Formats: sequence, structure tokens, C-alpha cells
Amino acid sequence: MQVPQHIIELTYLAATALFILSLKWMSAPTTARHGVWAGELGMLLAIAGTLLNHGIVDYKWIAIALVLGTIIGVPLGMVQMTAVPQRTALSHAFGALCVTLVGTSEFYLRGGEVSRFTLSVLCMEVILGSLTFTGSLMAAGKLQEMLPQRPITFKGQNIVNLGVLAVAIALAAYIVIHPGQPHIFPFIVGIPLLFGVLMIIPIGGADMPTVISLLNSYAGLSAAAMGFVLGSKLLIVAGALDGASGLILSVNMSKAMNRSFSNVLFGAFGQVQASAAGGAEAKPVRSATPEEAAAILSAANKVVVVPGYGMAVAQAQHKVRELYDALTKKGVEVRFAIHPVAGRMPGHMNVLLAEADIPYDRLIEMEEINGDFPQTDVALVIGANDVTNPAARSDQSSPIFGMPILDVDKAHTVMVIKRSMNPGFAGIDNPLYYLDNTLMLFGDAKQFVGAIVRELSGGH
Ligand code: NAP
Repeated sequence: MQVPQHIIELTYLAATALFILSLKWMSAPTTARHGVWAGELGMLLAIAGTLLNHGIVDYKWIAIALVLGTIIGVPLGMVQMTAVPQRTALSHAFGALCVTLVGTSEFYLRGGEVSRFTLSVLCMEVILGSLTFTGSLMAAGKLQEMLPQRPITFKGQNIVNLGVLAVAIALAAYIVIHPGQPHIFPFIVGIPLLFGVLMIIPIGGADMPTVISLLNSYAGLSAAAMGFVLGSKLLIVAGALDGASGLILSVNMSKAMNRSFSNVLFGAFGQVQASAAGGAEAKPVRSATPEEAAAILSAANKVVVVPGYGMAVAQAQHKVRELYDALTKKGVEVRFAIHPVAGRMPGHMNVLLAEADIPYDRLIEMEEINGDFPQTDVALVIGANDVTNPAARSDQSSPIFGMPILDVDKAHTVMVIKRSMNPGFAGIDNPLYYLDNTLMLFGDAKQFVGAIVRELSGGH
């Protein structure tokens, strides 16, 4: 028995509404879980509606694909939080490959029987799909450290890269104007595959999260284009939502780093800075033990914890929760300062702290908390570096000059937990560490916070 077409359309409509609600709910920590459920339900409805499609004559291959997808997808969903950026990149690669394959089969199945509009959209679909496929694989490889992290640059690189893309676009334009030349089509698919690799080579590993967000946008746009080719309104809407949200996210990430989009894509950020390591060794710093840190924290009224990438790497969030409990029990007011690009992906700190059940109302955004640092007794920086670097405010020659930072240096005392004097993502020294009111707490974040908690509890 065939399901009436209007029921299928209603399923798609419900899926579309759920996708929109999902994005809205995911923008606030309190509703984020609903957002995930809405997205999952929307996707389930979209797949169910598609499976009911009257055009399907045989379910055998679909069943095989569903089983294969599940076998690959379930372990992919179980990776560590710190591996989520590369996992996301892999998902984009799969999505983009799918779009490219569908576009290619549509081209050969339909032969010359398509309008100019459909042919141009189809070309756009496969160009974006192909470059997103190899670009995302490269990005995942860099993040997983399977490929060299540092930017690889050569003279005239941007011209060569854009030239390669221009050739693919020119061929696409040619085939649209002069249809019926299927021998050109493989180049329209193949050249962007090369461009995807070339595009990522000059970008440093640490810029990959922004790039992945941009590739997300490309994958969305190619899916929307596929929607036009296949006449699927659901794909057009879902692809457009994906494309727009990926673009907004990339722009927000670039803004929070005070860098232009072109600087992320073409700036070869993350090349070794001559001044980074050398000068750092010479200047003296003051360090303290867990006992001393615990005593200072116990004596404080107001503490602001500043988490960063190091807390994520060390998986110290549960120990941080214990610290929060111990200090709160002693009557100390503890809040968490959240920088928009702390860690390696947007919302990284929010997710980790939520995982450790730290109340949402204790997480304060940068703009809101910055005015409070002068009245803060202790700013406890846990594995954060660049997002606290005062050079961003004062040193015009610094690569991060102008990036908004957390003004921890204005607190009465600053304590910084990190393992060494090594720089963070931007590869630059942090003058914060040499200030009179700064104490360095050298050690792994999880172990050091654990030691402070033991001291605090032992004192009872
Ligand atoms: P960061 O500047 O990269 O510094 C992290 C620090 O953590 C390092 O200095 C490291 O010092 C320390 N660390 C590493 N492992 C540790 C461990 N096990 N225990 C204790 N400390 C450890 O991190 P951030 O301050 O969070 O800043 C994020 C940076 O990433 C910014 O520059 C931002 O622009 C960039 N970024 C962020 C995003 C995003 O979406 N969030 C995207 C792209 C780029 P030691 O080696 O001495 O321990």
C-alpha cells in the first residue's frame, strides 16, 4: 500500500520545522538538549519520508546502505570531546561525497535532458561537493595530526589555488553554454578535488575549526543545490540552513579572534614565530605549590575560573567541579569566565562544564564578566593562554592584537595552571605570566586541580 503523497509532504514539513527549532534551541545552554533531540527527530522524519517515496522500486541497496552507515556512524559518535572537530570534518566529507556522487549520476542519467538552470546548479553542486570532500578529509587529517599541522606555503600559492578553481568554474560555464559534452564533466568533478587539497595545505592545523565551519557551509550549499536538481524542497531548506549557520559560525569565530576571513584562509597563521620561545626562558616567573594555591583560594571571597584548551586536553572538568564544590562550601563565590573561542571549537568550554554539572548560571560570557575582574580576588586560569594574553590589548605588533580577551590581569591575584612556559595556539609568549600579581602553577590541569581539592578538603 502506498502512503499518500500529502502525508510524505507533511512529514517533510514537520522535519523542516524541527530543523529550524533545533538550531534555535541549540543557541542557548539551557535548551541545547532539546535542540539535539529536535534535530534527531527531524532527521528521522526526513529519512522516513524519503523511504516512503513512491519512486523507490527496490529497498535492497537502501537497506545495505543503512546497515553500513550505522556500522560506521555509531563508533564515530563515541569519540572523545576533544576529537569532535575532526569527527565533524569526516561527516562533512561523507556528506559532500554523497552530494558529488548523486550529482554525477544525475548528470549521466539525464544526459542532455536538463534545463540550463538545472545544469548550472548541478555543476555548482559537484564543484562544492568535490572541494568539500577533499578539503574536509585534509582538515580531519590535520586535526588528528596524521598530516603536518603547520601551514605549507609557496610563492604565488593563492594565485595558483584560485586559478585551479577558476578553471573548474570556466569549464562548468562552458558546459552550461554548450551542453551535450559529457567528456568535460569529469574535469568539473576532478579539478575541485585537487582544489580542496590545495586550499587546506596553507592553513595551520589550529585554524581548522574555523575552516571546518566554513566547509560545513559549503556542504550545506551543495546539498541545497542538490535539492534544486532533485526537486526536493526539504533538501533546499535543510541545505540552506546548514549553509547559513556554518557561515555565521565561521564569521563569529573569526570575529572573536579579531581576524578577517581572508586572514584565516590565506594568512598561513600558526607558522613558527621567531620571538615565541626564545625570550620566554629568560624572564623570571613566580610559581606556587598546590598547598599555597589552596590557601590563597580559601582566603578569597570572589574567584573567577578561566577554563581553556588545556582543561579540555587534560579532561579536568570533573576535578574543576570538585574544586567549585569545595570552594562554594567554604563560602567563596565561584564563577566561570567563558571566552567565545576558548578551546578549539565554539561552545567547547560550555559543553565540558555542563558535562561536569556545573550550573549554567555560573558560566558568564566575556563581555559580562570583564568589568568584574578588578573586584575579583583570584582569577584561576586553567589551561587557557591566548584568551588571557594582555598583549592583545597593548602590543600592536602582536599577531593577536585587537582580539578581545578576558582581562584576568586586572584581578588582585592571577593563578595560571599549565605544564610549562610553552605558548598556546597562536604560538606567542604571554606577558601575563611575568606580572607581579601572577603565580604560575606548573602541572597537568587535572592533577593540579585534584591536588588543590585534596588540600582544601584536608583543611577541614
Ligand atoms: P591556548 O592558547 O591554545 O592555550 C592552551 C594552553 O593549555 C597551552 O598554553 C598549554 O600550555 C596548556 N595545556 C595543554 N595541555 C595541558 C594540560 N594537560 N594541563 C594543563 N595545561 C595544558 O588555549 P585557549 O586560551 O583556550 O585559546 C584558544 C585558542 O584557540 C585561541 O587562540 C583561539 O583563537 C584558537 N581557536 C579557537 C577556536 C574555537 O572555536 N574555540 C577555533 C579556532 C582557533 P602547556 O603546554 O604549557 O601546558
